[in-house]
Order: sequence, then C-alpha cells, then structure tokens
Amino acid sequence: MSAPEPIHIDRDILMLAYAEARSAYPAECCGWLAGPSEGPVTTVRTCANQQASGNHPTAAGRPAETAYVIEGEDLMALNHDLDGDMPPLVIYHSHPNGRAYLSDTDRTVATNPPEWGGGPTYPVQQLVIGLDNQRVVEAALFAWSIDEDGYTEIARFEGAEV
Ligand SMILES: [Zn+2]
Repeated sequence: MSAPEPIHIDRDILMLAYAEARSAYPAECCGWLAGPSEGPVTTVRTCANQQASGNHPTAAGRPAETAYVIEGEDLMALNHDLDGDMPPLVIYHSHPNGRAYLSDTDRTVATNPPEWGGGPTYPVQQLVIGLDNQRVVEAALFAWSIDEDGYTEIARFEGAEV
C-alpha cells in the first residue's frame, strides 16, 4: 500500500509556478512542469486557461475561478511532448481561494471516464497552488494511486510571499 513517489520539484521551479499563479490571479493558471522522465522537473510550460474563454463544452458558464482546461495548441503540445525526451511530469493549476486540494471537477478532468477504463488522463502528477490576494498560502502534489483507484496527496509545499 505504498503511495506513489513525488516527482522532485526544486524550490526555484516551484517559485516560477507560484509567479504564474500570481500573474493569472484572480483567475486560475494552468500548465505543466517537464524534465527527464525520472525527474527532477527542469522547466515550466505555461498554458492559456481555456476555461476563461467560456467555450468549453463540458463546463461552459463555469468561470475560470473554479476550473482549468488545457486545449488547442497547448493540448497538442502536451500530447506531443509526452513521447519526447523532456516529457511533462506534473500538470499544475492554481486556486485563487488560497487552498491546495483537488476539487471534484479537477478529479474528473484528470481521470479517464469509466467507459475508457478509468485511470489517470495523463501519466503525470498534479500540483495545485493555493493563493490569495497577498501570498501563495500552500501547494500540494497529487498522484494516481492504484490502491485507491484515484488521486492521493503525496507532498505539500510551503507557500511564499508572491
Ligand atoms: Zn482546481
């Protein structure tokens, strides 16, 4: 019953992701962290949060504050890079309510539907950055657990004045 090992995320990479969360605030940011397949992550790839455009079929009308959507060129790049030398290892997004957790919507987006056999949508871990109007309060990393047949928290990170 061992939890998946967290991908190592250096503090400087984490701070770059925090800065992205701050620049998107009060909307959610999203993107991914990439690196050699065994880690650590070495780059931050930002995405346009398509949820903000309001044209996503499964969540139209839902403001960017409550969901993130990666699609279009970003989604093509994500799929392409998964087969490359520096694959996406962690998908990140932010929560402007200051709390780092995977919401029900986040879990749905990151999980294949049962008719596809379930399991994670992508072979990546999920980083959530919780920030308010003053600072990044906390961040947490989640991974797919075969034992739990769902996402489980595997690491927590201190916030920062960002
Ligand atoms: Zn979320």
